[in-house]
Amino acid sequence: MARVMIFVLNCGSSSVKYRLFDGSSPLASGKVERIGEAGSPIADHEAALEQIARDLRLASLPLEAVGHRVVHGGARFRTPTVIDSDVIDEIRALIPLAPLHNPANLEGIELARRLRPDVPHVAVFDTSFHATLPAAAATYAFDRGLAARYGIRRYGFHGISFSYVARRTATLLDRPVDELNMIVLHLGNGASAAAIQGGRSVETSMGLTPLEGLVMGTRTGDIDPAVAFVLARQGGLSVDDIDALYQHECGLRGLCGDNDMRTVIQRVSAGDPHAQLALDVYCHRIRKYVGAYHAVLGRLDAIVFTAGIGENSADVRAQSLSGLLPMGIAVDPARNAAGRPERVISPDGTPVTAYVVPTDEERAIAEEITTLLAPSARRQVVSSTEKA
Ligand code: ADP
Repeated sequence: MARVMIFVLNCGSSSVKYRLFDGSSPLASGKVERIGEAGSPIADHEAALEQIARDLRLASLPLEAVGHRVVHGGARFRTPTVIDSDVIDEIRALIPLAPLHNPANLEGIELARRLRPDVPHVAVFDTSFHATLPAAAATYAFDRGLAARYGIRRYGFHGISFSYVARRTATLLDRPVDELNMIVLHLGNGASAAAIQGGRSVETSMGLTPLEGLVMGTRTGDIDPAVAFVLARQGGLSVDDIDALYQHECGLRGLCGDNDMRTVIQRVSAGDPHAQLALDVYCHRIRKYVGAYHAVLGRLDAIVFTAGIGENSADVRAQSLSGLLPMGIAVDPARNAAGRPERVISPDGTPVTAYVVPTDEERAIAEEITTLLAPSARRQVVSSTEKA
């Protein structure tokens, strides 16, 4: 990265993560959690931002730009975008598709623009990386007119992480990313899989919203759409009740009462059958997607685990990929159990190299903005900032 000072803000519904970069060197980082929760000293996002601004002396830093993670960019935002009032309106219009995420992202943007109105603010979208999905992967088998009217299609998420991890894996393999086929499994509180061909996303498990696909901490992932009809007709639940249930009370939590994978695995070790079933459902779903995405890609060079569970749970990695040797996929128990955070976990000589690669979304955002601010692109950025 060139030496450009960039402040990156990742505003979630109850937390704010930030990182300050000078070129590729992180100068400061931090996280304010439990915003607005009972007993928390931080009442709202504004208080969180003010505290961060004071700690970092944000007003007087020689910043070149502020970067913002935005979860849903819909069909319009395919690249990092300098924020102006039109962009803000568009992100607001996408709130129905990301009700947990886009409002917090917007709040961060508006507060930070007030703190530093003198520099460009750039939105980097989780959906952009999936703009390359082929129509056959992006389209639901659904009424064409309704799909067009409401923008109903697969968008996909975690794109900032997928893009970073794919490039990092290519570096580790010492091959150009555009020659490689890989499956990346981003397993955090939210979880999704992507099939990446030559550096481009060709299939991904999250859809219109971040609810579809893999089992998550509290979200259902894939579920028969008719479950909602049963709940409404027989259980008398409203649309909002079902939405809240699918988002907050399902996934690992619905299966065993705990949404933290560390606790689930401790309970499995103690012989708890509900935790065992939760882990089995979680890993079975991953295995099913690995098989499907292998078929989508044809040839597979690498399979990569990232985010909290992907980086830290040897049990989940081993169970998800067990028995796949006929597909050229295997995990070496010793490599899987321990080693550097970034490492190969497959045995030497297996056709598909399995990796753990820690994700770094804030660094990825800073890198995207540095590219956007490169001298050739800078004139355009300055002129659109002036317009805003
Ligand atoms: P987010 O999606 O909120 O960024 P993270 O990527 O931090 O989430 O992932 C959070 C998940 O990672 C939690 O389910 C947590 O239990 C899990 N996790 C963190 N460390 C471990 C570990 N050592 N073993 C198993 N799971 C872990």
